[in-house]
Amino acid sequence: MTYDVLIVGAGPAGCSAALTLRNRNHSVLMAYTGDGALGLAEKINNYPGVRGKSGREIAELFRKEAEEAGAEIRKEKVTQLLPMGDTFSAAVGADIVSAKALLLTIGAARAKELPGEKEWLGRGVSYCATCDAMLYRNRPVIVLGTDQESVEEANFLATVCSKVSYACEKKHDLSALDEKIARLSGKPLSIEKEGKTVRVTLEGGEKAEADCVFVLRPTVAPSTLLPGLETEGSAIRHDEKMHTSIPRVCVAGDAAGAPLQVAKAVGDGCVAAYSLSEDLKKA
Ligand SMILES: Cc1cc2nc3c(=O)[nH]c(=O)nc-3n(C[C@H](O)[C@H](O)[C@H](O)COP(=O)(O)OP(=O)(O)OC[C@H]3O[C@@H](n4cnc5c(N)ncnc54)[C@H](O)[C@@H]3O)c2cc1C
Repeated sequence: MTYDVLIVGAGPAGCSAALTLRNRNHSVLMAYTGDGALGLAEKINNYPGVRGKSGREIAELFRKEAEEAGAEIRKEKVTQLLPMGDTFSAAVGADIVSAKALLLTIGAARAKELPGEKEWLGRGVSYCATCDAMLYRNRPVIVLGTDQESVEEANFLATVCSKVSYACEKKHDLSALDEKIARLSGKPLSIEKEGKTVRVTLEGGEKAEADCVFVLRPTVAPSTLLPGLETEGSAIRHDEKMHTSIPRVCVAGDAAGAPLQVAKAVGDGCVAAYSLSEDLKKA
């Protein structure tokens, strides 16, 4: 099936767009990795109708409404988007899906890529444990983790790979990490490859080697996600209708720039939905 619109992200911008796109009878797949910035807000008191609710409660409410309106929602990371003529091909978790248009609502959090990471992506560096674990069955791997999801993914890799070593990109709780997994100390600084061996250099000078490095962040840098996408500072460049530099690709919410507020994200999502609906009519 080819979806009319693939929405990357399910925060206020993505969910708002999903509601409008469904009202205009478009098929929608919305993929997300977590609660995004909204999930970090203790309370939101400047958005109508949700006063006193926590960001997490609102995020769940928004997703539920989008799902009830008929949007298909998947908790999967989108690792790559590629234009394929009239459609786009998207790596959503371990699947490849097709969509006629894209909406990027990936929030403001930016993945800071390590030196060597982009160069070896797909050739010793992976962003998705579910997609690539079997390629490294009974082989040693390294996980660069950022959060609880990374811990769960590393535990899964430990059931498939001969050895898993774990380094933290960001400080997080490791109490649930499988005891078989070796903990590396020091933040990862760079990735190199020599022959079939991938090497991670850590703060303090320690080096760890394996056959693959799984970089498990909740997001992917915009230019890696969709090559050719233009940015302006930390935001994705767009016009007043939320179109990006790539036809049939819109952006909304924090990913489009300040003010980083729920109300603005919801408004952007609505504008982007109208723009993509028009694009689809012309296609
Ligand atoms: C601590 C804190 C307090 C705040 N307080 C307020 C407040 O009081 N009032 C207010 O209006 N605003 C507040 N904000 C800002 C508000 O939360 C954001 O402006 C709003 O959430 C932006 O919505 P968004 O949809 O653009 O992005 P986000 O809510 O950040 O959602 C981004 C989505 O993209 C997904 N994603 C990212 N990359 C990928 C990928 N590669 N594949 C799949 N999914 C991906 C994430 O999983 C998430 O679902 C606060 C923010 C923080 C951090």
